[in-house]
Amino acid sequence: MKNLFGLTLAQLQDELVSIGQKKFRAAQMAAWIYQRGARSFDAMTDLSKELRRQLSERYEIRAAQLITRLDSPSTAKFLLDLNGSTVECVLMRHDYGNSICISSQAGCAMGCAFCASTLNGLERNLTAAEMIAQVIFINDELRAESAKVDSIVVMGMGEPLMNFDNLIAFLRLIHEPYTLGMSYRRLTVSTCGIVPKIYELAQLKLPITLSISLHAPTDELRSTLMPINRTFGLDALIKAGRDYGERTGRRVTYEYILIDGVNDSTEHARQLATLLKDQLANVNVIPINPVVERDFKRPPSRTINAFMEVLEARGIGATLRKEFGAEINAACGQLRRSFV
Ligand code: SAH
Repeated sequence: MKNLFGLTLAQLQDELVSIGQKKFRAAQMAAWIYQRGARSFDAMTDLSKELRRQLSERYEIRAAQLITRLDSPSTAKFLLDLNGSTVECVLMRHDYGNSICISSQAGCAMGCAFCASTLNGLERNLTAAEMIAQVIFINDELRAESAKVDSIVVMGMGEPLMNFDNLIAFLRLIHEPYTLGMSYRRLTVSTCGIVPKIYELAQLKLPITLSISLHAPTDELRSTLMPINRTFGLDALIKAGRDYGERTGRRVTYEYILIDGVNDSTEHARQLATLLKDQLANVNVIPINPVVERDFKRPPSRTINAFMEVLEARGIGATLRKEFGAEINAACGQLRRSFV
């Protein structure tokens, strides 16, 4: 049976026309699927019984299936089944709203040394439907508490810019008023640095926030942590980040995880400040979430503080990120690994 979940309004209209029905019913169906949590045609009580019967003979509404969830007061992590692939997504309850982190691929091919998502390589790209399924799943959960998803970061498993077309289709779909009507300004895409795709994204002129995973201030060190750096080095990456900021008017965020004894010295902080000077940028400094399979640890607080002080003294806007979810294995691919 054909799955209607993840279709655009125009695609739903085409399906209706193909079975000899009026296309204006598509708007009602989209509202049921994306805004009202319907997972069967029976639930669509403003459609005629005859239409519901006809639809259920040909179609299904297959969204995400929950495998397991882990809850802490501020965070909930969901392990979801999407058409046979297992992916993670996370809800973070902030004072300013509900932010969610979704995956763009099952597994990852990028091979970053500190990341659990890449340990078994890439399984496959997720479709736009599978990306929106994660959002709608959490939004349906939140609706039960009269809340909603307020912002989305594509910062879960996978490298979103290696799944570019599906990513863009997803971003456009979640922006549509018949889904969640999310403003592009509330969407963030995080990349390890696929330089040509950063330019491509900038050319679309969507005011999406770009987040670049930097993690090291020199090519030598970055190449040991992130293999992609051997293809696209720091100069090219920073230039692309600057171009993105200029074209979109959006401040680029640089992510910098601190790893004990690896990239956390005050000298590294000075090099980082030099790299980013004169750029409309923000640095998110994040003490690493230790991954069992990797021998990387969090630096002690005094090292973290010294690192932050150097950035501040050099006029670099930097935020020390509160750790979300370490206590529930919310770090990057860890929950999936304990299951798959
Ligand atoms: N591939 C994209 C998005 C997914 S990774 C990217 O690289 O940005 C999301 C973020 O989590 C990245 O900044 C990544 O470097 C970071 N990350 C991966 N493993 C981590 C760990 N063990 N602790 C903290 N952050 C981690």
